[in-house]
Amino acid sequence: MAPLFRLFSSWHTVRVLGSAILFLILLAAYLFFAGQITGVEGYVESAMSGMLAGIHYWRKLHGKPPIVPSEACVMGALSRYVAAENKPFQPMNANYGILRGLDVSDKKEKKRLMAERALGEIDLMRAALAK
Ligand SMILES: Cc1cc2nc3c(=O)[nH]c(=O)nc-3n(C[C@H](O)[C@H](O)[C@H](O)COP(=O)(O)OP(=O)(O)OC[C@H]3O[C@@H](n4cnc5c(N)ncnc54)[C@H](O)[C@@H]3O)c2cc1C
Repeated sequence: MAPLFRLFSSWHTVRVLGSAILFLILLAAYLFFAGQITGVEGYVESAMSGMLAGIHYWRKLHGKPPIVPSEACVMGALSRYVAAENKPFQPMNANYGILRGLDVSDKKEKKRLMAERALGEIDLMRAALAK
């Protein structure tokens, strides 16, 4: 206990430690991760997560709420995948399997409709970002 007391007995130490703690809190609040380290896999996927991190950071800096992409497009589906509890975890790339499904039996038509729906969601997100 005595060494700890001695450490905090100096006003200078308290100020340095206080600043360091404040810095770490601010860092944690404004720290965003992107790319392979988050669990996405691939060039496009990593670039996408970097773009999302940039958007979130900019919005946070400007006091705006985060925009969460829909799970009907790959941005949202991959974000949900890496944030969810997956055991054992496997890095994931963009694929139809992670998108919210559609009740259409013809596979080719199903993929076409899913892609169309995803593009619609991206348009909605773009419009929301423009506000
Ligand atoms: C052999 C191989 C083949 C692949 N082929 C494909 C493919 O064909 N298509 C595809 O889509 N994906 C492919 N991938 C996956 C793809 O490379 C990654 O998913 C993607 O590059 C991840 O991007 P990133 O920016 O998250 O990380 P990285 O591209 O790994 O970038 C991280 C960067 O951080 C740097 N760095 C690390 N530590 C520090 C540090 N302490 N300080 C400063 N800098 C640091 C590294 O040097 C690196 O430049 C392949 C991966 C491998 C290994």
